[in-house]
Amino acid sequence: MKNKQLRPSYIAIDLTYRCALGCGFCFVARNKLEAGCGRELGLRGWTDMIGALGPGHKKFYLTGGEPMLRPFLPALVKKLKAAGHTVLVTTAARVPAAAAAALAGAGPDEIVLSLHGGRALHDRTAGPGAWDAAVRNLEIMKARRPAHTRITLWCTINRANHARLPAVWRALKALGADGIAFNHLEFVAARDAAASAALLAGIGSATPLNSSEDLAQGMNAAALAKGAAEVRRLAGKDAKFYPPLTGREIKKWYSPAAKMERPGFCLGQFNAAWFAPDGSLLTCQPLAARISRRTAAPLAAYNGQAYKAFRRLLIKNGGFFPSCRRCGRAPYSSAGRTYA
Ligand code: SF4
Repeated sequence: MKNKQLRPSYIAIDLTYRCALGCGFCFVARNKLEAGCGRELGLRGWTDMIGALGPGHKKFYLTGGEPMLRPFLPALVKKLKAAGHTVLVTTAARVPAAAAAALAGAGPDEIVLSLHGGRALHDRTAGPGAWDAAVRNLEIMKARRPAHTRITLWCTINRANHARLPAVWRALKALGADGIAFNHLEFVAARDAAASAALLAGIGSATPLNSSEDLAQGMNAAALAKGAAEVRRLAGKDAKFYPPLTGREIKKWYSPAAKMERPGFCLGQFNAAWFAPDGSLLTCQPLAARISRRTAAPLAAYNGQAYKAFRRLLIKNGGFFPSCRRCGRAPYSSAGRTYA
C-alpha cells in the first residue's frame, strides 16, 4: 500500500447531527458529535466535495442525525443518481409528509427507516408520536418511490426490545416494507474507549468516543439469542442481522468484559471516506477522529500524512482499535464476518 494513492469508493456523509428523535443508544448524541461540528454544508458545498472525489462509480450513504432535516436532500439524491452512483439514505422519518414524498420521488436505491419495535416499544425508545410519524411517512414513501427504490426497516436491538425480537419482527413485517434488518447494539467498554484514546493521542489525534457499556446493562443475552434464532426460523432470509452473530457470539458481544477479537483489518479505512456535516474528513463515525477540516482537495487529505499515520497505527495495533470490538460495520472487515 506504500505509494498507492487510495480512492474511496464508499462515501458516507453525515448531512446533519440534528435529529427529532431521542434514542438513548444514539452514539451521535452520546458522544456529543454536534458540539464539535462547525457549520453544516449546503447543496453546493456537498456537490463541490463530491466532484473533488474524482470520477468513477461510488456508493453514497447519506445519513446523520436525520438527513431529511436538510431540505436539499432530494436534490442531492437526484444529482448522485443522474451521475450513475448508488445512493442509500437512512431516516427515522419524523418529518413533514412533503419531505418524505420528495425523498421517495428522488429515487435513491434504498431508504433505510429506523423503527425499534412496534408502536409502544418504538415510542418508548424514540419519543411519543415517533411511530405514527414514521408509519405515515412509510406509506407515503411506498406510494411515491420509483420501482428501483427499496425500503428496509432497521431495528437497533436495545435494552427495551432485546427480549421481544419475534414480536418486533411481526410488528415490522406487517408494515409491508421490502426487508427488515436487526442491528446489534453497538457499545464501547470503558476500558476499550480509554485504550483507543491513548493510542490516538500517541499520533496527535483524538476521538470524542465515550464509554457506553451501560447500554448493555440488564440485557439478557440468552433471551436475545433465543429470540434471534426464532426470528431467523420465522423469516428465513427476509430478516437480516448485522453483524450476523451466532448464539455464542451474541453472548460474548453483550458481555462488556469479553474481549471479542476480529481477524483482518478495518477495510473501511482504505476504501471508504466519512464526512461530518461541516465537511470535515473523519476516520469513521464511531471513532470520529478528524483527519482534516473541510478542504477543496479531499483526496489529498485521504492520502495525506495524518491519515497515513492513522492507518499505520491501525495496522500496528492488529487491524482494529480496542473500541472497534463492537462496531457493527461488519463489511469493513477485510476478513469477513467471523469473530473469535
Ligand atoms: S471497525 Fe473501528 S476503525 Fe473501522 S469503522 Fe468501525 S470503529 Fe471505525
